[in-house]
Amino acid sequence: MKWYTKVLLVLAVLLLLAVGLFWLSIQTRVSIADFLNIEKGPTADVTPSSAVTAQFAGVSTLLLSDGETTILTDGYFSRPGALQVGFGKIEPDEEDVKWGVKRLGITTLDVILVVHSHFDHAMDAPIVSKLTGAPVYGSASTANICRGLDLPEQQIRLLEENKPLQFGKFRVTPILSKHYEFPNPKVREAALGGNQEITEPLVPPVKQDAYKMGGAYTFYFEHPFGNFLLQSSAGWKEHALDSIKADLVFLGVGGLGAQTEAYQSEYFRQIVDQLAPKEVILIHWDALTGAVQEPLQGEVWLIDKLMGKTQETFDVVEREMAGRPDIFLYTLPKWEKRELFR
Ligand SMILES: [Zn+2]
Repeated sequence: MKWYTKVLLVLAVLLLLAVGLFWLSIQTRVSIADFLNIEKGPTADVTPSSAVTAQFAGVSTLLLSDGETTILTDGYFSRPGALQVGFGKIEPDEEDVKWGVKRLGITTLDVILVVHSHFDHAMDAPIVSKLTGAPVYGSASTANICRGLDLPEQQIRLLEENKPLQFGKFRVTPILSKHYEFPNPKVREAALGGNQEITEPLVPPVKQDAYKMGGAYTFYFEHPFGNFLLQSSAGWKEHALDSIKADLVFLGVGGLGAQTEAYQSEYFRQIVDQLAPKEVILIHWDALTGAVQEPLQGEVWLIDKLMGKTQETFDVVEREMAGRPDIFLYTLPKWEKRELFR
């Protein structure tokens, strides 16, 4: 064998090995066993039809209801694959959205509230709106995601900071907060850098970073049976939650494990200590990719190592909540109804 043939052979083997390892890193999913271990169970007795309930569909998609009024947050159902998110273009999959809406048992929907305009929150909202007739409330950027899919203007509503909205017995106040700070400078620049607004109707398929953040909202829900906060992104704005207390906090923890200990602890001080809830329910800890029909799953290894840090995130939660032993800590099972208040 000539020397250059040997070199070529070695190079070919190395290339194959690299491709194989890359393939494995986007096929293998990290464990979420610790999150599943703290799933909230059903109540011992029958839940009254007037109780405030929640159903979790992954990330920060929640169906909230008191038997009279039904609210969906985000409505993210068409999960692109890891390759598409990393290198390709993404778009809503109408069949997946239909499937998710049906799986949640949505028959009538009063409103869709979108926390911010990244794809894992806002991408499918206009499709849900078309299917149900419910209006989409979000930022100006979310409005342009809706326009890109030709949602009629009367179904597109703009959130106004600190201006409460009334939906049946739910009073919902949108509070402008801050998005999670990605520690990786490249990811931060792509997700949060430059102009964060979507200024024109966004027509998919587009690269995932075309879904600009557009302002991160926290929603404060007041209901006669109990008050709760939906904090989707693990960021905070100083004093934004002053004077607010809640019985329960839906706490977004996505990426928290990748942050510094100072950031992690400050997040719990700013949100959990400020709100002083009896109960914390973790959200935004599961995979952004992978079919909606699958059970809750961990992110693929590569994305997890670059961004998610799922296990580290759980360890942070455990460490912080150990210092707050009076607060109940849960996750929600996928799809199943759980009672929040009665
Ligand atoms: Zn985001």
